[in-house]
Order: sequence, then C-alpha cells, then structure tokens
Amino acid sequence: MIRARRARIVATLGPASRDAAQIRALAEAGADVFRVNFSHGGHKDHARTIANVRAVEAQVGRPLAVLADLQGPKLRLGEFADGQVRLKVGQDFRLDRHAIDGDASRVCVPHAEIFAALKPGADILLDDGKVRLKVAKCGPDFADTVVVAGEALSDHKGLNLPGLAIPIPALTAKDLEDLNFALSVGVDWVALSFVQRASDMAELRQIVQGRAGVLAKIEKPAALEALDEILDLCEAVMVARGDLGVELNPEDVPVVQKALVRAARTRGIPVIVATQMLESMITSPTPTRAEASDVAGAVYEGADAVMLSAETAAGQYPVEAVTMMDRILTRVEHDPRWPELMRAEYPVEDADADALVAAARRAAEAASTACLVAFTTTGQTALRLSRERPLQPTLALTTRLATARRLALAWGVESRVIDEISDPEDLARVAVAVVTEMGLAPPGHRVLILAGLPMGSPGAANILRLAHTPMKR
Ligand code: PGA
Ligand code: MN
Repeated sequence: MIRARRARIVATLGPASRDAAQIRALAEAGADVFRVNFSHGGHKDHARTIANVRAVEAQVGRPLAVLADLQGPKLRLGEFADGQVRLKVGQDFRLDRHAIDGDASRVCVPHAEIFAALKPGADILLDDGKVRLKVAKCGPDFADTVVVAGEALSDHKGLNLPGLAIPIPALTAKDLEDLNFALSVGVDWVALSFVQRASDMAELRQIVQGRAGVLAKIEKPAALEALDEILDLCEAVMVARGDLGVELNPEDVPVVQKALVRAARTRGIPVIVATQMLESMITSPTPTRAEASDVAGAVYEGADAVMLSAETAAGQYPVEAVTMMDRILTRVEHDPRWPELMRAEYPVEDADADALVAAARRAAEAASTACLVAFTTTGQTALRLSRERPLQPTLALTTRLATARRLALAWGVESRVIDEISDPEDLARVAVAVVTEMGLAPPGHRVLILAGLPMGSPGAANILRLAHTPMKR
C-alpha cells in the first residue's frame, strides 16, 4: 500500500481509539505515527496500546511509528476543599505551599521552584489562560496575587508562568519512570514537553542513548530564546501550539510556527505542527473551514507532519478526523502551485545541502524518473533527501525495522525493511524489485538510487546510481 501523500499524520491514541480495531481503522484512514500521551493513563494501558499498534502494523504492511509523549514539568495547582471555587476579578488570591485544601482565598501550589522564580508584577495563567493572576507580593513560599481575569478554578488545573524560566528539572520523577517504561517496551520517538533549555534535551538524550528518536515540544517562550541550541540536540521538533498559545499571545502562534517550521527544514529534522488542528471534530463529523485552512497552511509551509490530539484520543469522530486530515493534505498536494509555494517558504538551493543528495533531487526532476531510493542504516540519508523536498516519492530501504518506523514521521518517505545486501552490485536489482512490487514506478522508468559504501555501515551517502524498471514485454 503506497500513498501518494507526502505530509504525515500523527494521531494521538486514547480511550476513543486505543483498541486494535480502532488503531487499524486510523492507520487505514492514513495515520502514520501514533502518539501515546503519558499525561494521561497508566503503564498497563500504554503497554496494551503500543502492542496494538505493533499488531496493526503487521496487518497493514507498512511501518508505523509510536511516539511516547512525556508530560515534562507541567505545573499544576493543588486541590480545593469543594473541588472548585468561584473567583471575582479584582479580588486577592494567595498561592502557597501549605498542603491544605484551598478555598476562594488561597490554594496550594506543590512546586517550590516557582516561588523562587516569581517576581512582583509577574503574570500567572491558570487553566490554559482562562484565569489570570498578577503577583503583588511574593516570598520563598507564597505569592499574593490579584485576579485579573477569570471566574472559576478547580483541582489540578494547569499553571503557566509565561516568559519565566523555571529552575525545575526537565524530567520529573514521573517522566523518568515513564521514559524507562517507554524504552523498555520499545517506542520509536520520545517527545519531551515544556523544554526550556538545551540541557533539558541533553538530559533526555543521555538516558535514551539512541534507543529512540528524541523530539522537543516547543511550548515555552524560554525555548524560543535558546532555540538553536535546543534544535542542535533534537532529531525532530513539535510546534506545541496549545501551551505555546497560553504562554504567548494567540497572534504570536502563527509567527512562531512559521519560524519553527523553517528552522527545522533548514536543519533537516522532521517538524510536527500540533494542537487544535481539527478541534471542532471532537464533537462534530466535519471541521470548520478555518480548521481546514489551518491544516492546509501547515502543508503549504512544508511541515513534515500534522497532529491530532483530543480529536482522535477522546473525540466522537477519530476516524473521520484522520480521513479529513488525509483529504486536506492530499488536496493541497494536488494544487499545481503547491511545490512552488512550499519551496518559497524555504529555498531548496542552499549552501548547506549535501552535494550528492542535492544532485539526486535535481537529477530526479528529469523526465521519467519515478522515484528515489535511499539505502539507509540510521535513516540519515533518507532524512537528508526528505529535507530537499523532492517531488518524486522517496523509498527508504533499511535492514533495521527501528529505522523504518522512525522514518514514518518524515515528509515524503516510504520505508521497507530488506535483507542485508553485501554486494553493491545487488543495490539496483533490489531497489528495482521493491519499487516494482510496490507499484512505485511503471515499466521503463528511472529509479535514482542513493547509497553509502561500504554497505551497512552508517555514514553519508557516497554513490548515486541510475536504474530502470524493466520494459513491459
Ligand atoms: P499537549 O502538547 O497536548 O501534551 O499539551 C501539545 C501542545 O501543548 O500543543
Ligand atoms: Mn503542551
């Protein structure tokens, strides 16, 4: 099953979608990567969900990736005696460290670190920004604030401190447990939420040790200030627009999205645009026109992947949401102006291109080239090719199942696992055989092959070779 579509779909799994039959329906509708959100659910559920994805992969016959999304240092309120309180704009409200149930005048915040970072005049956002407090006075274990906006609070609501870098460990005790669990069951990507600095990613990499790809969720203004250093340590990146839109103003989100997509494409690391893409489809079988336009915009920009969150995890129409996303992506990619628009966002001709990969892309534009084939061990050659955004599909052939799965996130790359090839003379034969079997090239068409010799050892591609599919007799 080969898809003409280049952009990829990440679907979050949850109660609405994590049984095998639903996962299969999502994969058949076009989902490429399945996100398991460790902010919700226990390890038993996650283990079963991931096993289901692996079982479905065997049924659908193409590699599917599992992305483990770690909660990170998400700050939350403590609890209220009545579970919830009403607030009035202008009233005083105290945050403190007393582990006593809250009321309409105070509540506990069980993170000592935030009191150290707060300053008078700082804004505190609660419940995705629905409630806004301004700090009047603060000390090492309290903050006296005034309610600037909002009227209701309840247990465990999220807390954001826009613009403040909080001296909190990137990986909480829960994250470390979740990460060890995720690595033990074997996931393909690990995403870390609320990354603030490069050392956060360094810490993650130190533990992951290459057993999965690592991805930073960009959702804090502090991360934008250290973006280059953070991206240097990332193998993919997510524009996490949900929390980003709380920490910044809504009008900043599209600007940051464009900058992030561009930065990721320049580096050649996959970029996911996430959150509220088809939000109304949580409860409706069709999206709003604005949502369709938003998804399309990400594809016109050349994002590698777009993501569904609650739409597939907890919504009433998970399969319809993936189907709709697939339709929007496919429609954009049939727009005759799409290649030009996508490339306008990021010029392909750049000095940093790997010479051979850039040459392959250009040569492939010659008439009658049906596809590119990258023999790849770690996936690097396929990713470098994907970075060039060639208009022909790229087939990645690898002996490593883990590489094939990880590449499910990459723009325009289809992967297949092959047996080891020891004789370079076999490259063309194998490439043509797989391409023909997959229906990627009609008879008598060119197939451009990229590979690195010696075979099987990770390293930059160093041969570019032309092969032909056999003519029909
Ligand atoms: P979340 O991350 O869904 O885990 O919060 C994505 C976002 O904030 O956009
Ligand atoms: Mn988030």
